[in-house]
Amino acid sequence: MRYLILSDVHANLEALEAVLDAERSWTQVLMLGDLVGYGADPNAVVERVRALPIAAMVRGNHDKVATGLAPTDTFNPVARHAITWTTRMLTPDNHAWLAALPQGPMSVEDDVEICHGAPLDEDFYVFDEMDAQRASAGVSRALCLFGHTHVACVFHLTGRAIQTRMPGPEPYVHEFSALARAMVNCGAVGQPRDADPRAAYGVLDTGSRTVTLSRVPYDIQAAQAKIIAAGLPSSLATRLGVGR
Ligand code: ZN
Repeated sequence: MRYLILSDVHANLEALEAVLDAERSWTQVLMLGDLVGYGADPNAVVERVRALPIAAMVRGNHDKVATGLAPTDTFNPVARHAITWTTRMLTPDNHAWLAALPQGPMSVEDDVEICHGAPLDEDFYVFDEMDAQRASAGVSRALCLFGHTHVACVFHLTGRAIQTRMPGPEPYVHEFSALARAMVNCGAVGQPRDADPRAAYGVLDTGSRTVTLSRVPYDIQAAQAKIIAAGLPSSLATRLGVGR
């Protein structure tokens, strides 16, 4: 089975549509959370995702704050401004659907699990080897797919955690086996922070036991113009252009 891996769409409809246009070799979707927050299209993104064939899905921290499941004071002022606006914009139906998203981890077939931040703590950031080492205690499958940092990378967990950072040669293919464990972040669809502003996503192939990390350009200017027109902080538009 081939699964499209989406994480951290952050209400960026242009980026989501570009990924769905670019990648058609999948039958089901894995959604790793943070559908909303920062971007200007929370309802359109939620409705687009709701129409996809989802195999497994978990909530992100922005989905929780947008729906009142976590307090806004955990966010910096810019993120708080955007999430307060998002809460106001969400239709009651989309709000209820987002609020019902499950906490991770969720399993996919036998060897794969998905989470937003880390298996034992959905809000934990895995940026470096030390974070991965801490998170690895909760990893119970050969492959743990995660998001939250918006940085595409692979952590090999056998022995001491070792990180492979993206962007490298692309698409980057990670082969997984039952004999080794790895945590893989395919990056953010809607707000990349690894200096590559293109939308990031992955494809999991459980037949060939691979996860492929890819990037696709999208209409960044259109997404930026919507952020400005909505009255959201201009820094949220600027960062899309630089991938930070
Ligand atoms: Zn996020």
